[in-house]
Amino acid sequence: MAIQDSVESYIEIKTQEEMDCFFDSVNGFHDGLIKEFHLINDAYIDKHLSMVCGFKYNMRILIQRQWEKPSAVELLLGDVVEMNLPKLNYEIYNSFGTLHISKANETPEITINLDGNVFVCRKMLYREVSEWMGRESRFGDEIIVNNSFPVEKLEDGWVLCSNCFEAWQPINRKVLKCPKCFF
Ligand SMILES: [Zn+2]
Repeated sequence: MAIQDSVESYIEIKTQEEMDCFFDSVNGFHDGLIKEFHLINDAYIDKHLSMVCGFKYNMRILIQRQWEKPSAVELLLGDVVEMNLPKLNYEIYNSFGTLHISKANETPEITINLDGNVFVCRKMLYREVSEWMGRESRFGDEIIVNNSFPVEKLEDGWVLCSNCFEAWQPINRKVLKCPKCFF
């Protein structure tokens, strides 16, 4: 089953109880890692160089686990107001979330703590994306900072690495980088 790109495919977390259930269901992302994240600002500078304010950052995070059901989860964080990422080079041992609704202001403050990497936001949704295992980039093209070996296009969407002759079928990628020749 292909993964749909609609907000209906996500489940929103609205209470602390739902938050606790969610982190229980993924065992605190134990033996997991942050594979990818993508942050978009609603504010922008237009083609006439005017700044259109309304700063608001929404974010997607892909977490992969060494366990099944689910093996991978996507988090959708709305209105991210703070991030602190001091431990990106570590696997996740444990994680949790808190959801706080003050009586004066009904917009919740949500804190996600992925083993020391902290995201504070106003809205949180998630979905299982267990097909999204492996090295493949899911939120856009791969980011390549070194030259990679040329890739030859074969039939039926297959491509061939000119260096190691690995053949593979890239998923919706403009940038083609051999999955075997790491550098
Ligand atoms: Zn190769």
